[in-house]
Amino acid sequence: MNLQHLTDKSLLQDTKILPTSEREFTVKVLHHLREIDRRKLFSDQGYRSLYDYCVRELKYTEAAAHRRIAASRLLTELPFLEKKIENGSLNLTNLASLTQFFRQENIVGIKEKEITLKRVEGLSTRECELRLLEMSTKPPEIRKEAIWVTEDVILQLKEYRDLKGSTESLADVVAETVTSALSELQKSKFKLVDRPRISRFSNSRTPSAGVKREVYQRDQNCVKCGGKFSLQYDHKLPYSLGGKATADNIRLLCFNCNQRERIRQRL
Ligand SMILES: [Zn+2]
Repeated sequence: MNLQHLTDKSLLQDTKILPTSEREFTVKVLHHLREIDRRKLFSDQGYRSLYDYCVRELKYTEAAAHRRIAASRLLTELPFLEKKIENGSLNLTNLASLTQFFRQENIVGIKEKEITLKRVEGLSTRECELRLLEMSTKPPEIRKEAIWVTEDVILQLKEYRDLKGSTESLADVVAETVTSALSELQKSKFKLVDRPRISRFSNSRTPSAGVKREVYQRDQNCVKCGGKFSLQYDHKLPYSLGGKATADNIRLLCFNCNQRERIRQRL
């Protein structure tokens, strides 16, 4: 499918409609899974469970299969969920979290489930997790994100810690190193030096260190989306059209917004 011929307007319009159809399809899938489950049809096909069937026959990832099965079972109990999934106020990830919450808190009554559902409606996945954590009567687990590193990296971390003469945990070594690496990167990328030099090349294409520093201190983030992903200095009026590398004409854009600007300017 090549969409290059679409105007920006119709591309945006079409894209806005698609998630609605996508959610309607999702609900259809849930109903089918529910009926397959009711008939236990997967067993005829040689699968051990609905989950097994979803992963091996339907090629869902483990997580996607888990979410769909949880949602389809909840849908059986609470038919009004259908509308909420379709209009996007409850997504499958949140429904899976809810299922887990009901189990963990031993919530079995329909009325009680409805009340809980109301409290997470319209929330993002992260917000939903936090809300459920607040509502939980069980002691909260510390939120951790595990990262996997190779043996080599562990050895390097230990060597680094030894050379520093430190005895802190490897997690602390990582945290500290990242903080200092981030600060170094910010300094070099945005020219945040202690004693700025006045540059004589203010008219060149590349902004001077002084301009970079000034623009960074003014903008901090991508001026279009507010993000920080691969921030770049961009000429508002392009250099090819006479735009100068002055603080007035230079702004911070993230990689994606910068790409988008380039594409737009080419049209
Ligand atoms: Zn951006």
